[in-house]
Amino acid sequence: MPATKGRRGAQVLAGQTPRRAPAPMQKDRSASSVVQSRLNIKQWQQRVPTVAEVRPGRCPGCGAASCPLGGGVRLRGHGTRERQVAGPTAPDALPEVVTVIARRYRCVSCRAVIIVVPSEIGGRRVYSLSAIGLALALWGLVGATAAEVRAYISSASKIGHEAAFGWATLRRWARDVAQGRLFPSTPKSPSPLPLPLRRSAASAASALAASADPTTRELPIAHRAFLGAARAA
Ligand SMILES: [Zn+2]
Repeated sequence: MPATKGRRGAQVLAGQTPRRAPAPMQKDRSASSVVQSRLNIKQWQQRVPTVAEVRPGRCPGCGAASCPLGGGVRLRGHGTRERQVAGPTAPDALPEVVTVIARRYRCVSCRAVIIVVPSEIGGRRVYSLSAIGLALALWGLVGATAAEVRAYISSASKIGHEAAFGWATLRRWARDVAQGRLFPSTPKSPSPLPLPLRRSAASAASALAASADPTTRELPIAHRAFLGAARAA
C-alpha cells in the first residue's frame, strides 16, 4: 500500500536524522594537544631536545604546573612521534617535506597527552607556519600569482589545472586567517564586510612581518613574514 510505504519511508528518514555534531572529533582534540617549543626545525633536527628541555611549563589540559615546587613532575615524557612538515625551511630554500621527532608528554593529573613540536609547526597543519606566512606575503604583498606561490611553497609535483591556475590551499589559509583559525594574534579587519581573500592575506602577512625580530628589518618583507610566522603562532 502506498500510504504504509510512505509512512515507513518517513520513519526511516526520521531515524537517520543527525542529532548533534558527532563526538569523535572533540574527543580526539581533547585527548592530545600540540604545543610549540621555542626551538625551530633546524635546531630540532641538529639534535632532538631532551624531555626536560622542551617540557611545557603547564599542562594545556588542566593547567597544572609541570614541575611544581616541592612536588613531583606532573608532565612526564611519553615517548616520541614522527611528524612531517612541508614547505621551505628557510625563506629562500626549495620546498621539501621534512620529518621531525616530536616529543610526547602525559599529564599525571588529567591524563592528557601533549605533543611538543618545533616553533614553526602549527597544530595539525601539513605546512609549516613559516611557509604559510611566506605564502600569504608572496600572494598578498609581493603580487605573486597563486600558481607562483604554489611553486615556491609546495614540493608536490602534481601539476593539474588547479595548480597551474590557482591554489585552493592558499585561499583556505587566507580564509582561515580572516576567520581567526590561523594566526589568531594578527589584527582583524574592523569592517563588518569580509575582506577579499588577497587583502586578508596582505594584512596578516604585514602583521607577521612586523612581529619578526627587529634585527631582521633589512630583509625583504616576505622573509620577515616567514620569520614572524613562527613567533606569532
Ligand atoms: Zn593535565
